[in-house]
Amino acid sequence: MNRTALIHHPVCHLHDMGDDHPESPKRLEAILNRLDETGLSQQMTLQDARLARKEEILLVHHPIYVEQVERISPSHGLIQADPDTLMGPYTWEASYRAVGAGVQAVDEIMAGLYKTAFCAIRPPGHHAEPATTMGFCFFNNIAVAAAHAIARYGLKRVAIVDFDVHQCNGTIEAFQDRPEVLVCSSFQHPFYPNSHWQSEHPHIVLTPQVTFGTSEDLRNDWENKWKPALLNHQPEMLFISAGFDAHTLDPMGQMNWQTKDYYWITEQLVQVADELCQGRIVSMLEGGYHLKALADSAEQHVRALMKLPGG
Ligand SMILES: [Zn+2]
Repeated sequence: MNRTALIHHPVCHLHDMGDDHPESPKRLEAILNRLDETGLSQQMTLQDARLARKEEILLVHHPIYVEQVERISPSHGLIQADPDTLMGPYTWEASYRAVGAGVQAVDEIMAGLYKTAFCAIRPPGHHAEPATTMGFCFFNNIAVAAAHAIARYGLKRVAIVDFDVHQCNGTIEAFQDRPEVLVCSSFQHPFYPNSHWQSEHPHIVLTPQVTFGTSEDLRNDWENKWKPALLNHQPEMLFISAGFDAHTLDPMGQMNWQTKDYYWITEQLVQVADELCQGRIVSMLEGGYHLKALADSAEQHVRALMKLPGG
């Protein structure tokens, strides 16, 4: 049995918001090529992401919104769903498979096929709120996966850790009234999406980072905020919104995290998952816009999920 799955679908490359858009198919290509070239993907269980079922998406999103996304789906050309987010002829299917990847990972981990999964999918999800597209996102992939784990398997507590440079406003919106879902989010502040700077909810743990925040800031937040919150919450499954745009080379964020930090934080999460939740981790790609830094960082993340040495 391979320890880690790589879940993906070719249609995720066909969602294309135009040559100038930073959330481009080249991102997935960079990651998947790297996992192939290093021989990592050959040691993973490779799965085609299935389509999400509508009732799964409805665990997080409003029915009218889900219908709207389907209705505006163009048969050719691009339409603007919001100022940052465009929809082409393949976007609807790619979005359903991006959600489906996370749900499938939950099902297959619960069935004992593997312990950890990396879902190399796009569009990303963590900005999508229950009734709105936002920041390149249509459906909140990680939120649906977490809600599915609770609804389908009766898990009492799960946790989502989001280390993307942008705050997971959509994930917070989805779960702020559901204390069974711990949400830990680090993010550059002040910065897009400029919402939820503070939380009154003990299960929403926000760790804003100053501009040009360093590896040291990440380590401090882990030790002082995230790790205690995880140990206190005792999740039965761990979810990671894996965005790599806090990397020092990323053109969108202004942070100074290094490639090795993605190995380090993932290793910490693997240890906590081993201790608390039988090692179960579902990780889903969010941001990361410098192609080489993205491939480097995602490789380190996957190495840690696989319990291989960093390299
Ligand atoms: Zn981001």
